[in-house]
Amino acid sequence: MSTDRLREPLTQVLGARSAAPLAAMGLETVGALVGHYPRRYGDPGTVSDLARLALGEHVTVVARVARATVRQMRSRGGAMLQAVVTDGRHDLSLTFFAKRAGVLRHHEDRLRPGRMGLFTGVVGAYRGERQLTHPDYLIVGVDADDEESALVEASRPIPIYPASAKAPSWRIQRAVRTVLDPLTEDDVPDPLPPGVSAQRGYGTRLAALRDVHEPYDEAQWRRGRERLRFEEAFVLQAALAQRRARAAAQEATARPRPAAGVPSVLADFDAALPFTLTRGQQYVGDEIATELARARPMQRLLQGEVGSGKTVVALRAMLQVVDAGGQAALLAPTEVLAAQHARSLEDMLGPLAHAGRLGGAEHGTRVTLLTGSLGAAARKQALLDAASGTAGIVVGTHALLGEHVQFADLGLVVVDEQHRFGVEQRDALRAKARTTPHLLVMTATPIPRTVAMTVFGDLETSVLSEVPAGRSPVTTVVVPAGNEQWNARIWARVREEVDAGHRAYVVCPRIHPDEPAARGADPDAYDLPDLLDTLEPDGAGEREPLRAVLETAEQVRAQPALAGIEVGVLHGQMPPAEKDAAMAAFADGRAPVLVATTVVEVGVNVPEATVMVVFDSDRFGLSQLHQLRGRVGRGTAPGLCLLVSTAEPGTPAAARVETMAETTDGFRLAQVDLELRSEGDVLGASQSGRSSSLRLLRVVKDADVIAEAREAAAPVVAADPDLRGSPVLAAAIAERLDPEREEFLDRT
Ligand code: ADP
Ligand code: MG
Repeated sequence: MSTDRLREPLTQVLGARSAAPLAAMGLETVGALVGHYPRRYGDPGTVSDLARLALGEHVTVVARVARATVRQMRSRGGAMLQAVVTDGRHDLSLTFFAKRAGVLRHHEDRLRPGRMGLFTGVVGAYRGERQLTHPDYLIVGVDADDEESALVEASRPIPIYPASAKAPSWRIQRAVRTVLDPLTEDDVPDPLPPGVSAQRGYGTRLAALRDVHEPYDEAQWRRGRERLRFEEAFVLQAALAQRRARAAAQEATARPRPAAGVPSVLADFDAALPFTLTRGQQYVGDEIATELARARPMQRLLQGEVGSGKTVVALRAMLQVVDAGGQAALLAPTEVLAAQHARSLEDMLGPLAHAGRLGGAEHGTRVTLLTGSLGAAARKQALLDAASGTAGIVVGTHALLGEHVQFADLGLVVVDEQHRFGVEQRDALRAKARTTPHLLVMTATPIPRTVAMTVFGDLETSVLSEVPAGRSPVTTVVVPAGNEQWNARIWARVREEVDAGHRAYVVCPRIHPDEPAARGADPDAYDLPDLLDTLEPDGAGEREPLRAVLETAEQVRAQPALAGIEVGVLHGQMPPAEKDAAMAAFADGRAPVLVATTVVEVGVNVPEATVMVVFDSDRFGLSQLHQLRGRVGRGTAPGLCLLVSTAEPGTPAAARVETMAETTDGFRLAQVDLELRSEGDVLGASQSGRSSSLRLLRVVKDADVIAEAREAAAPVVAADPDLRGSPVLAAAIAERLDPEREEFLDRT
């Protein structure tokens, strides 16, 4: 088999002049060009009657050439070819202009009187006569064998390609034909195993390429697209199946639960739990317990609404590992969250977290916080606790991945909120253990099924759908910005809540008023990437500047309604100690109003918080707003979320915030979010603005295709994990999943 033809440079096949504008579009090889699929197909129209040609209409007529003459034009200079075609009763003029008569000779040569042809163009008029200027045409006996085949040719759907000014669609079409026509089956290797193709009734890959580029009818291009789309999904799912298989082949240390009667931190913890686990927590807990007891690494994604109680599930998993003599690491995306996790784990464990200390339980463990901002002495102690095994649970951020951090026996890694931990971090942690640690990834961002199957396809998924009983509902209201009365009402409501002993968050998209909304300035910059995605389509440039934390805090402090109330500030650029202090003052009510960036988006848990005011809410993504809103209504008092919006009615931004007000169902919001965003956003920021390597497959719309491909790929990979017997598939995986795509696959 030869793949050489597909690698041939277009400069060689088409010539430098034709290849240059294609290269500018990233199409440099035959393979790239035949992989440049039509975006849609134009209607070829039907054959028109010469008697009824309407001005301005795009028509195709069948007629016989009556005469054709080239002449110099005295008035304008240049030359002109005038032909007349006829159906026997009605005539139509065809006109071609050129600088020199020579250029027109080849038309004259083709348009010989008596020949039949098909003529296509837009109907114009000259001195009251209907005419076509520079029509496309096909001559029977020259371009087509007979009239029937000419008609067939003229009635083919017109492929419309993603094009540029220098490479218009028709020119791309011509180039595609030039490279596609001479290709043979051997030139176009097929990543779909023959069995899979046969089962689905597909032809070869080459046939599918012809179907999409040179179809005779709609059914044909649809067939071709379906096949190529399935192929994309199949290659992706095969890659994921391989990855799962590789992970499953790794060795892990089995961490079974202790036998009944044997002292167990987990058993003690369960006995002291002040509430009953929800059925979901129980079920997922059992799933995890079984997997931890195996000598193969668990690879599990735990999804659950904000407040669904994922932390308890994770803690119980960690305790099982601790009971089995191992350690667990909990990774949080920010220092604020790591510190909070460490605190809440200690709170939940109570005396069980103080093993070996005065007042500690006999059987227990220790929770150690290890972050980049610890003082030298504290850091040394934390490192020691991790390395000696004194700390059964080590909580931290990326600092945990530092070279100096050693574990005595790392058995489980829990990642809270996946989106900031890539495969490298995961590998770095694995490298710290003798065997591959078990992995539990938790996310409160609901992930629609198809995205889970694509982006997180190498993880098994569990869902906590039930929220513990007694949770309060959150009411969401959209507040138009710039309305004085509404504005006053916001602060009056905040006052009422504070007076009732509650807390209020005020969220702004940026820190300083003059700060450009750029990535990277804020180490906790949860706000910006999502925000930037939503900024672009709405033409943010012309709009009011985004609200900033520091400025807004001043305005809030100046509100008469809030006189005497302490207002705190929290953002990612504050030193860690200040952040902690701000959170603590908010949590215990000394500063019951907190003006913050979206640092508070993930996981922050202050049950007394009942109100959240989000400025510029129309600039946030839905999933992000959902996360933010999850910060209120975590206690017994009902929550209120006020979305201040500057969006014009009818815009996608307005639709987003209205959707927020309509539903609290995270899965529905995630689905709407996907629909309102581009595919590039779904696949990750690095993909947006570039041609995604998914050409036909749409993660949102093609759920069925993805599911079918997953089913079809599983047995193929199971039978031959290294795909030695399917070299084309293996090559397709290697080629299509370039490092950048691997990265998105790994964003877990
Ligand atoms: P998540 O991390 O999923 O957002 P948490 O684990 O932080 O949610 O749980 C939110 C709150 O609910 C915590 O205060 C936790 O103690 C409490 N909680 C968890 N499970 C239950 C349960 N089964 N019954 C009552 N409260 C629960
Ligand atoms: Mg949580």
